[in-house]
Amino acid sequence: MKVFFSPYTLRPIQPLNALSTSVNERKGALLKVVWEDELTGYADLHPWVELGDRTLDEQLAALRAGRISSQIERCIWLARRDAELRFEGKSIFDQNKYLVNLDYSLDPAASAKMKNNFLLTDFKLIKEGFFDDLRAQDFSTVKIKVGKNLEQEADVLEHAAAAGFRIRLDFNSVANPKIFEKFIGNLSSPIRSLIEYVEDPFPFDVASWSEAQSLVRIAIDNEYEKVDWEEISSVPFDVIVIKPAKLDVNLAISRCQQWNLKATVTSYMDHAVGVSHALGVAMELKEKYGDMILESGCFTHHLYQPNSFSEEISTQGPYLMNVNGTGVGFNKLLEATPWFQLVEIQ
Ligand code: MG
Repeated sequence: MKVFFSPYTLRPIQPLNALSTSVNERKGALLKVVWEDELTGYADLHPWVELGDRTLDEQLAALRAGRISSQIERCIWLARRDAELRFEGKSIFDQNKYLVNLDYSLDPAASAKMKNNFLLTDFKLIKEGFFDDLRAQDFSTVKIKVGKNLEQEADVLEHAAAAGFRIRLDFNSVANPKIFEKFIGNLSSPIRSLIEYVEDPFPFDVASWSEAQSLVRIAIDNEYEKVDWEEISSVPFDVIVIKPAKLDVNLAISRCQQWNLKATVTSYMDHAVGVSHALGVAMELKEKYGDMILESGCFTHHLYQPNSFSEEISTQGPYLMNVNGTGVGFNKLLEATPWFQLVEIQ
């Protein structure tokens, strides 16, 4: 197996979450993997050091020395899915019933199509009629990154709730049990009833998460690695956030089945290649597991200044229209990308 890489830079339009307060450029690398059977596939390596990932340079250096980081392991798994589809000349989105066509609004089954939540990171966007406009585009769920200014955030929740939105909150573990309890306790019961779940309220431990779960439904995202699945006797959360860039999809699904949990598939606030992979996984899982798979959260490419890749992802409101090409798409762009050989693994 040969691994090639191509570094890239993404430019956020505004700060992305409670942990990243600047709009500094974000660096990652596309990976091209060529197997001995000549199949070739692509994936995106986009480390979030703020969330505990090793840096890009560390992971690439480790690979050069023959050690595969868990994140690169996921890249190779995704690249193989991509490679097999490319070999067959198929797109990951081919014949997928969760794709909608342009006149989706005329399609009576549109409500059954796979939707993505609207990710709200910049409250400056919120002007008169903002949430009503989103509703008119057919968005039904808004995900709000919280934990920077709880008073202002509670106010935003009120506006989202008034427009009838289902609400996902993500604290990225920056709260603590006391602050969290107070924040939730201060919300009116109509607003609380619209909260679909709260993601990573504070660092994981079974007792305090169980208490949080008695107030509101809880989803686990970055804290997932801390769960001792062998020892745990009850699971203090309701939803697993599956980021194919970061965790073993099949293992996460089997845990959902074992513990009767729901799953949300999201991208990793990464390159368009990563976004397309996440969308492909989301749709495949939706087709296989139905109601267990909630609305996904893959439209994170809008958080960055557009580039030639992200412009290939065609969306309409909460729906993916298509990404042209085979596998996860981007055929011409990937062909034109300069690749550097990183390593040959026997
Ligand atoms: Mg999260």
